[in-house]
Amino acid sequence: MKYYDKLIFDLSKEGRKGYSLPDEHLFERRMSDEVPSSLLRTTKPRLPQVSEVDVVRHYTNLSQMNFGVDTGFYPLGSCTMKYNPKINEEVAAMPAFQNIHPLQPAESLQGIYAIYEDMEKMLAAITGMKYFTLNPCAGAHGELTGLMIMRSYHQSRGDFARTRVIVPDSAHGTNPASAAVCGLDVVVVKSNANGLVDVEDLKPLLGPDIAGIMMTNPNTLGLFEHEIKEIAALVHEAGGLLYYDGANMNPLMGVVRPGDMGFDIMHLNLHKTFSTPHGGGGPGSGPVGVAAFLKDCLPYPHVERADDKLTAEEGTAHSAGMISGHMGNFGIILRACAYILSLGKQHIGEVGRIATLNANYIKESLRDVFKLPIPSVCKHEFVFDGLINDGAREGKEGATTLDVAKRLLDFGFHAPTIYFPLLFHQALMIEPTETESKETLDAFIDVMHVIAAEAADDPDILHAAPRNTPIGRPDDTLAAKHPVINYRDLLAEA
Ligand SMILES: *Cc1c(COP(=O)(O)O)cnc(C)c1O
Repeated sequence: MKYYDKLIFDLSKEGRKGYSLPDEHLFERRMSDEVPSSLLRTTKPRLPQVSEVDVVRHYTNLSQMNFGVDTGFYPLGSCTMKYNPKINEEVAAMPAFQNIHPLQPAESLQGIYAIYEDMEKMLAAITGMKYFTLNPCAGAHGELTGLMIMRSYHQSRGDFARTRVIVPDSAHGTNPASAAVCGLDVVVVKSNANGLVDVEDLKPLLGPDIAGIMMTNPNTLGLFEHEIKEIAALVHEAGGLLYYDGANMNPLMGVVRPGDMGFDIMHLNLHKTFSTPHGGGGPGSGPVGVAAFLKDCLPYPHVERADDKLTAEEGTAHSAGMISGHMGNFGIILRACAYILSLGKQHIGEVGRIATLNANYIKESLRDVFKLPIPSVCKHEFVFDGLINDGAREGKEGATTLDVAKRLLDFGFHAPTIYFPLLFHQALMIEPTETESKETLDAFIDVMHVIAAEAADDPDILHAAPRNTPIGRPDDTLAAKHPVINYRDLLAEA
């Protein structure tokens, strides 16, 4: 263990500090003057006592134990881990945006509301939907909001019988989860041998109890559902609505629009397609777009323009209600706005094309060593089903997808998504995104070939991976059930 891998509490030394104030007594007296004594603590907080340089090294070293798009290639399928341009951060950090409060008078928020209005228009142009709400705070939150809109719509017409929603078996786990949270029952439609929604399986499921269908296009196998027009006609004919899970919008941006495919409601993940920080890197945003006839069902507040004045309006009787505090994660909306404007109409259509090219380039370069269950041209991502030669032989277990993922970490790449989608046993789902150079893709392809050769030769090399990371293979179940996340827990463990 390196000296600075120690916990900051282990570096603590009684009386050491990283500040010098002129008169501690003065400071303490003022505190007790202003805070009632019943609220003052009687014991000192147990904090590490360290110098400034100890603190700086501690946090800098911690940051280097992590992995992110700023440190390396992150081909996590279904997550669109693209580079987050720094101009987004510069815009979001401008004092005019940082120092606002949602309860300020509307007259003083006209510029902010104008950004909401502009963003709505840009997202509508990109997706072919008519109106947007920017209030949901994640993709899954957008799904729930979209389903609430769907339910409000049916109920506004006096139709209370539509309590079931159709979800393909290839769908992201959040789809059935959102439907359940919304109080809808899930009906699963099967995929056919080509990995697409089986239209013949869909037909008998449609009826007066169906609120709608949730679809992802391209789906989680990275395949374009080219029968979408027929599916849309069938669902609409049965009185249902089409919900588009826009987490996979990246390959379509500037090329194809969900509104033109027949979708009525959709969400976007600004933290995927629109380059805002993702996961532990920051809060999310899942704007929801709707066709014109669903405007009254949008959640509130919603920015409206009247006589050249912008206001955040309450909803009407059919509104899905209020789904977040105020109007979503404004800082994220701002970053995504900066991203769209920096690409402009001129370049936005390149995103999807390059993302698609990059995915197909990796797929074709690695199909000599990984099983490719669905060999057609993919969009932004694709799925392998484990190694062709996993090295299994008498007395030796073969290398699994988990082993490949762990071994990749030793070479400085983040692992792809593994064991999802659930359609294959050894799924390895790769999404390179458009922001990677050919050199980076080639380096990844080379390493994947090295790993495949190692597996064929001696799978134990993979079983023992990773060797070069701060920790090896944590017990996932134990880590989830008994997380050790602070010093007190660690002491209790010891
Ligand atoms: C990421 C993702 C979601 C969920 O989005 P979150 O922002 O993580 O809640 C839903 N569907 C698909 C296909 C996704 O990839």
